[in-house]
Amino acid sequence: MIVQDRLYIGGELVAPTGTGTIDVINPYTEEITGRVPDGTNADVDAAVAAARRAFDTTDWSTRPASERAEVLTKASAIISSRMEELAALISTEMGSPLGWSIFGQVLAPTMVLDYYAGLGATYEFEETRPGLFGPVLVRREPMGVAAAIVPWNVPMFENVIKLAPAFIAGCTVVLKTAPETPLDAYVLHEILTEAGLPPGVLNIIPGGREVGAYLVSHPDVDKVTFTGSSAAGMKVAAAAGSLLRPCTLELGGKSAAIILDGADLNAVIPQIIDAGVMNNGQACVAQTRILAPQGQYENVLEAVTEAMSKLVVGDPLDPATQIGPLVAARQRDRVLGLIDQGKNEGARITTGGGRSEQPTGWFVEPTVFGDVENSMTIAQEEIFGPVLSVIPYSDEASAIAIANDSLYGLCGTVWGADAAHATDVARQVKTGTIGVNHFSMAFGAPFGGYKQSGLGRELGPEGLEAYLELKSISLDPAAG
Ligand code: NAD
Repeated sequence: MIVQDRLYIGGELVAPTGTGTIDVINPYTEEITGRVPDGTNADVDAAVAAARRAFDTTDWSTRPASERAEVLTKASAIISSRMEELAALISTEMGSPLGWSIFGQVLAPTMVLDYYAGLGATYEFEETRPGLFGPVLVRREPMGVAAAIVPWNVPMFENVIKLAPAFIAGCTVVLKTAPETPLDAYVLHEILTEAGLPPGVLNIIPGGREVGAYLVSHPDVDKVTFTGSSAAGMKVAAAAGSLLRPCTLELGGKSAAIILDGADLNAVIPQIIDAGVMNNGQACVAQTRILAPQGQYENVLEAVTEAMSKLVVGDPLDPATQIGPLVAARQRDRVLGLIDQGKNEGARITTGGGRSEQPTGWFVEPTVFGDVENSMTIAQEEIFGPVLSVIPYSDEASAIAIANDSLYGLCGTVWGADAAHATDVARQVKTGTIGVNHFSMAFGAPFGGYKQSGLGRELGPEGLEAYLELKSISLDPAAG
């Protein structure tokens, strides 16, 4: 069992002000695997003060971005050298199958660090534009102290997707980790320190929503970046709005995978399933609504059902496992409740539908629903488990209308024999990212959501600019 009894604040491990602790429970063994302090408001005060000091009184924010980028490059290399250990730690925290963990939980963060290190070395923080009386110097300046709040499903990825652009911008950060997954951030701060991150630039508070809410409204915070559920995101946005505090929100999703008539089902369906149940279905970008043309509906449903019924469910640390347990008993119960609701509303289960028979662990069987109407709860709510809905459509216009008939707009995919035509369909889906004949996240392109999937964008230069204020200096016209 990993026990951390200190908090990382101001570059040191300091004693927490409170006595409360958070137990981290392995979702497979159901045993306690770690314990960390439960951060208090007083701990947040200390963390924000340390971040403030590092921003206001050190050269972190004024040194060349290329020097800050070096920290990211080194951190990426250290993470790469500890890939398997970190993947196993995160799988133990939240149940991700090891094979997926290596890629999604550890390799992906190194790619984000590398991307922002590259951007930091070349990004133009100042440019000159013509003004009315003379040139105008347009500067991009770091916003200051950023409060970063993350969920449990891809913890290191979420940490890094916020820290990397914040650091390149020159911001300092107070990171509040999710109560389910606080352990990996302890390793991350060790790695960042080894990579040369100065004291106070990163401060970490493990804790729940109350301490998160306190951090969002803290008077010395300049910027809020939040990833989590849309319900919590609305509260964070309201709190930030009442302070007119810049706020980036990455929230839930209910993405549609549109299979066009004539698509090669043998090639397409395995990829849709990978993108539908990755991370045990606990992914904001999961492709959980599979839209099939009426004429191919039964074929698609049968192929999806067969593939889902063959997925290997079990110990996340077993390399053969494709579906591990859900993060918590409450998450398993929530998913089972939504499955019941799907049945009650008239959808037909073609495989799965219950708990998976394992000796221990919070498992739900890979589940497929047929005869789904898009108005049903299972097609509207984010389930966050290994549950897919196959929905028929009559023509392409109605496929696009179904895809867009959602409170969410985070991601999606279009699958078809004619890539140009599939791209044209993708243009009509109201979603922040969408893939044609594959699913991926491009770290150099903006990522985020339409509608209730969020506000603002992460990744790409846009993700860096979310931590930058713009300033226009009208230069002395006489200076030439
Ligand atoms: P959650 O909203 O319950 O919690 C997310 C984080 O916010 C946690 O650290 C939590 O302690 C904190 N929090 C909750 N309420 C808060 C409040 N009022 N003020 C401040 N902090 C608060 O979400 P979760 O269950 O941890 O994560 C799953 C959700 O995250 C899903 O909806 C998923 O789609 C979403 N998500 C989105 C993205 C994305 O990039 N769009 C990525 C990963 C996960």
